[in-house]
Amino acid sequence: MTRAVFLDRDGVVNRDHAYVHRWEDFEFVPGALDAARRLADAGFRLVIVTNQSGIARGYYTEAQYFALTERMCAVFERQGAPLAAVYHCPHHPAGSVVAFARECDCRKPRPGMILRAAAEHLLSLPESILVGDKLSDIEAARAAGVGRAYLVRSGNEASMPDIGTADAAYADLAQCVDALLHT
Ligand SMILES: [Mg+2]
Ligand SMILES: [Zn+2]
Repeated sequence: MTRAVFLDRDGVVNRDHAYVHRWEDFEFVPGALDAARRLADAGFRLVIVTNQSGIARGYYTEAQYFALTERMCAVFERQGAPLAAVYHCPHHPAGSVVAFARECDCRKPRPGMILRAAAEHLLSLPESILVGDKLSDIEAARAAGVGRAYLVRSGNEASMPDIGTADAAYADLAQCVDALLHT
């Protein structure tokens, strides 16, 4: 079985400028790509799990989301940190786009994306790790049975004192990976 690191996207991989959907607005968090490469070198599969309710809300289309994802994946690849998969939840119960305006099992804090990734990529969840910037990320990891879950402060809730059920909190992905790999 393979161990993975599940990464939330907005606020962990890239700055959360709210409903980021244009490549021009996609600003990598400093050190995130290098941290991802170190995780890949340590034998972790890299999987992004991202809530994208902007699709249900009609702020951008799923096609725009996929176009941005393609460019993001290419950068990870070039940096020696290829992504095994990227899962997104396009839903929101209060959305305006009929096809996506519903309850679902994939929007975090629900565990659907993580469970699907584990099934499709034969991942061992107890041996895996999640890194997110919101408590809903941590809750999704817990609900899925992910072994460890870390909160990072590179998102928009940086001053939030509560770390919920996270195992620890770090400034950003780079510091989290420093601690994980004892570097
Ligand atoms: Mg986030
Ligand atoms: Zn969903």
